[in-house]
Amino acid sequence: MEEVIIKDKQKYLNEHYPFAHIPKLTDIKSCNICDRVFAVSEYKVFKDIVGDETICCPGAPDCYGTAIDWIVLE
Ligand SMILES: [Zn+2]
Repeated sequence: MEEVIIKDKQKYLNEHYPFAHIPKLTDIKSCNICDRVFAVSEYKVFKDIVGDETICCPGAPDCYGTAIDWIVLE
């Protein structure tokens, strides 16, 4: 997995976030895998060997969590 550096993180989310409700960069989430609490702006993107890009937990690559594992904090 190779990290992809994203210049405009909100634009990237708008175009690639896999679910209907696109978060703002200032939203606070928790990772269901590593329990890290983070601002959405801290997300990382990794590209796999076939070139597919995945929005990942800021703890990646140590944490294998992706956007699907993010929990909204009340
Ligand atoms: Zn995580």
